[in-house]
Amino acid sequence: PICRSITGDGVRKTLAILREITDFEILEIPTGTKCYDWTIPKEWNVNDAYVKDQNGNKVIDFQRNNLHLKSYSIPIHKIMSFKELESHLETLIDMPDAIPYRTSYYKEDWGFCISHNQYMNLEKNSTYEVVIDTTLNDGHLTYGQKIIKGESKHEFLISTYCCHPSLANDNLSGMVLWILLLQWIKQKKRKHSYRFVIVPETIGAIAYLSKNESEMKNLVGGFILTCVAGPGNLEYKKSFHGNHFLDDLVLRILKKLNLDFITHDFDINGSDERQYSSPFFRIPIGTICKSKYYEYNYYHTSKDNLEFIKSESLIKVFQIYISIIEEIEKFENFPDKKILNSENKNSGKKFLSLMPYCEPMLSKRNLYPTNGGTIKQKMFDVEKRHNDKIYQDIKGKKITGKHLDIIRWILFYSDGIFSLEDIAKKTNIPFDGLLLVANELCTHNLLKFLDGENK
Ligand code: ZN
Repeated sequence: PICRSITGDGVRKTLAILREITDFEILEIPTGTKCYDWTIPKEWNVNDAYVKDQNGNKVIDFQRNNLHLKSYSIPIHKIMSFKELESHLETLIDMPDAIPYRTSYYKEDWGFCISHNQYMNLEKNSTYEVVIDTTLNDGHLTYGQKIIKGESKHEFLISTYCCHPSLANDNLSGMVLWILLLQWIKQKKRKHSYRFVIVPETIGAIAYLSKNESEMKNLVGGFILTCVAGPGNLEYKKSFHGNHFLDDLVLRILKKLNLDFITHDFDINGSDERQYSSPFFRIPIGTICKSKYYEYNYYHTSKDNLEFIKSESLIKVFQIYISIIEEIEKFENFPDKKILNSENKNSGKKFLSLMPYCEPMLSKRNLYPTNGGTIKQKMFDVEKRHNDKIYQDIKGKKITGKHLDIIRWILFYSDGIFSLEDIAKKTNIPFDGLLLVANELCTHNLLKFLDGENK
């Protein structure tokens, strides 16, 4: 229930609790620091937030559940009509007893998230007192790391994120597994090195990569720990290679342990693998989940709580990771990343990302939905409900959730090696659609066309 976000005291408090289990470094980056295309935002903290009806009853109360307040809501104190309040309310009509999780990190906004049942009970002809007592000041982004040095020059990444409040599978379970694995690995004699990183998602990973560029470029591979304690399937999301040494190793271990599992090809949505595997870094990243994000209905809702997750699930994934690390330790050498990454030498139309270090900040170019938390959430139909509100035009063509995917795929694979034809094959997105969006991205100076077939 600690109020975590991408910055603020909630993250500090959380990392301090994790550090009671085993020690790691806690570091901070000041507001305003440039990290590639991004800037560390102001630090956000919450004193209180509520909505009172005319009788003085708190009908929405941050103290009861911190998911009620949209993350990064700006301060406000105002009496308003229900109509005005309503435009700042988020509900899930298909899951009427759940509170959705929403954020607005990069657009100054405020909002409350409530269950649809709660919404139905609000008096529609009344006025309401809205109080959001938050601060947005120059401060810091807080993160943690611990580098466990081995004897070899080979290093692996174990990364998780720490920015979701009050959600258990995504992402409390990842943080717990992260600290347990760190504790375990410290007690082992190791041949290789392991870099443990705990950052707020996206901005934290980008900031971390910008601060540790040369070391990160040399990593052999790694894993994102998230969604590891749900009641559903055991699932493996492959690295962007799809057939990297680490993918083969994970699948071999899962089979050896006689476990039923589902595999997912690399998907440009997801977590920080998008940053770690971006064209400049190209670190192969795998993810093992128990009820993977996007795959369970309670994803990004208040129903992803401690009753939803199970310690047995988390322990099972913990044991799988132990087996994987023990297997990695048996190897002296690993495939050369540079050779692997240049294996694909197809001809065709090629583009080059002009921002190969992590993903460019799409929201400042109006290429991203400003309402965070909704992407691929099963209980939230973007097309149906928010089409006009949260998507902006690119040159008269409406960007939909599908376009966001296309933008991300193109930027991710435009390294001068993969052609647009390759991307079409990998993603099943029609070539014409890719070309249209690629040309638009050129006008945003995010991409350039590579003349000649085999550059
Ligand atoms: Zn999430």
